[in-house]
Amino acid sequence: MSKRDYYEVLGVSKGADASEIKKAYRKLAIKYHPDKNPDDKDAEEKFKEAAEAYEVLSDDQKKARYDQFGHAGMGGAAGGGGFGGGGMSMDDIFSQFGDIFGGGGGSPFDSFFGGGGGGGRRRRKGTNLRIKLKLSLDDIANGVEKKIKVNRLVVADGVTYRTCPQCQGTGQVQKVVQTMLGQMVSASTCPSCNGSGQIIDKKPNGVDSSGLTYKDEVISVKIPAGVTDGMQLSMSGKGNEAPGGGVPGDLLIVIEEQEGETLKREGNNIVYDLYLNFVDAALGTSVEVPTISGKVKIKIDSGTQSGKILRLRGKGIKDINGYGTGDQLIHVNVWTPKTLTKEEKKTLEGLRDSENFSPSPDKSEKGFFEKIKEFF
Ligand SMILES: [Zn+2]
Repeated sequence: MSKRDYYEVLGVSKGADASEIKKAYRKLAIKYHPDKNPDDKDAEEKFKEAAEAYEVLSDDQKKARYDQFGHAGMGGAAGGGGFGGGGMSMDDIFSQFGDIFGGGGGSPFDSFFGGGGGGGRRRRKGTNLRIKLKLSLDDIANGVEKKIKVNRLVVADGVTYRTCPQCQGTGQVQKVVQTMLGQMVSASTCPSCNGSGQIIDKKPNGVDSSGLTYKDEVISVKIPAGVTDGMQLSMSGKGNEAPGGGVPGDLLIVIEEQEGETLKREGNNIVYDLYLNFVDAALGTSVEVPTISGKVKIKIDSGTQSGKILRLRGKGIKDINGYGTGDQLIHVNVWTPKTLTKEEKKTLEGLRDSENFSPSPDKSEKGFFEKIKEFF
């Protein structure tokens, strides 16, 4: 079965902004929510379809990839780095609601369905934590393991839970309601334990009724090579813990790329500006240039022009999705001296009208200024 276009799923135009996308998804999520449509397979499929569309269109990076490559662009991302679109479980979908419906923790959905409507089929999940992680070009090129300090909510020492007496630990309460069609049994989230099935038995002084407290923790994160600025990595279960022994939220790590001083990144390529004095450019020389994997010696041909680009094949950044490795491009700039001694002046004056010193770019060479000399 081929997938429907994500914009079509949400019923928004391609130009829709973030708030329109969010609004459209909210509407669909409420309409097709399983609690509203028990045992309705079609509604469940629509619910999942909308969640998947939202997951992609609400994320700038995934949206850009989808806009460019369509569904084909999504599969590769999911396989490559282990994060990305496609195949969401119900748990994923419900955990997403914290972001959509505002309000941390708990069951933000309940307020939408008004007291009786909400069902108890979800486990209570802790809220997600989001942190920014600055990475140097070196970290990005080679991948890195970072230790990061996270201030997260955990169950406080000394807190004990017991089974909720109202729901006997099921997290749901049932009530019989009279409708025009007769008696119906409706299940809803237990108001005493908010669906976790557990309530606090004992807690030390100073701990609030959630039983949670903030704690600094050092978490080790493995960053794969080739991540890009703005990319978000997710560590499952490393976010805030949930009250009452629910599932912890996720830790979301947003990559912030720091620009290098000499080496710049352009996609998976590395760009380096090389400055040569014009004597070296005219006579040829050999120079050392920095790369992300150490210094490399390259030969400069005699008669090298400013604007020429030299390529160090494979000296760029490894693609995050495994599509090869970029190159390092060396932009040659011929440096003109800004001040001259008397001696230098005299020498140069002597060369001013010299036979080969008049500029005469060889126009017959196609793409003269962009001709690339390749190494390796
Ligand atoms: Zn309960």
